[in-house]
Amino acid sequence: MTYEITDECISCGVCIDECPVEAISEGEDKYEIDPELCTDCGSCADVCPVEAPVPVE
Ligand code: SF4
Ligand code: SF4
Repeated sequence: MTYEITDECISCGVCIDECPVEAISEGEDKYEIDPELCTDCGSCADVCPVEAPVPVE
């Protein structure tokens, strides 16, 4: 499993420093998670003000 950032993302940037494996980057319309790097820790979801990061299969 990994996490994915939905369109709810408001590009606030809070999550990027919380990721222990630097899987998050700023995309064109929203922030993005590299599924190859994400370790499913959930830290990004914990700090996100709009609950944009969600677990996916
Ligand atoms: Fe990074 Fe953890 Fe979020 Fe995956 S779930 S993107 S490892 S903070
Ligand atoms: Fe987007 Fe949430 Fe990350 Fe802010 S904390 S950039 S709203 S995913």
